[in-house]
Amino acid sequence: AQVVQAEFVKSSVTTEDCPSDGFPEFALVGRSNVGKSSLLNSLVRRKKLALTSKKPGKTQCINHFRINDSWFAAAPHELRTDWDKFTKDYFLNRSTLVSVFLLIDASIPAKKIDLEYASWLGQNQIPMTLIFTKCDKRKKRKNGGKRPEENVLDFQDLIRDFFQTVPPWIMTSSVTNQGRDEILLHMAQLRNY
Ligand code: GDP
Repeated sequence: AQVVQAEFVKSSVTTEDCPSDGFPEFALVGRSNVGKSSLLNSLVRRKKLALTSKKPGKTQCINHFRINDSWFAAAPHELRTDWDKFTKDYFLNRSTLVSVFLLIDASIPAKKIDLEYASWLGQNQIPMTLIFTKCDKRKKRKNGGKRPEENVLDFQDLIRDFFQTVPPWIMTSSVTNQGRDEILLHMAQLRNY
């Protein structure tokens, strides 16, 4: 799969601010440090399209990236209520949204907030894809730490208990580029519906 064009376009703080040219859109959401920027950079094979950062207090915006003839909207999910209000408004009202890519760190056990987020998207019938990140982290941790594959299965079990089904899911690593082609193919398939 080829990425011909990729550029950062704008940051928005309300749904009305978001680009209005009608291109199909995919949203990358997940906790701070889950690997949103790294995944985006890996998809477009660039080091710095999206700034990866360790600094706290990143701006609460939805950042729009134009990739070929699609949009990518990247947003952190946080517990802060005003921010959540904006992202939820965006999910519910963004008519060009094709799928929400919910990023989940596969190197750690399931987090309650990720399950809550998946539940909220499911309850509101917003199409989602589970994107498991950091699947290259192989080392077993002390104290019963699990491998990424095991964390992924655990997360799927928890989701299945809730929905009786599991949304489409892809295992990725922005270190090895695992999952890159699968994501691009998945996007192409979703767009052709
Ligand atoms: P964001 O806050 O969600 O945009 O997360 P970043 O993309 O800035 O990544 C947070 C940290 O996790 C950085 O130190 C990255 O280098 C690291 N990271 C992101 N993706 C991966 C991955 O697939 N594998 C590994 N081992 N580290 C990753």
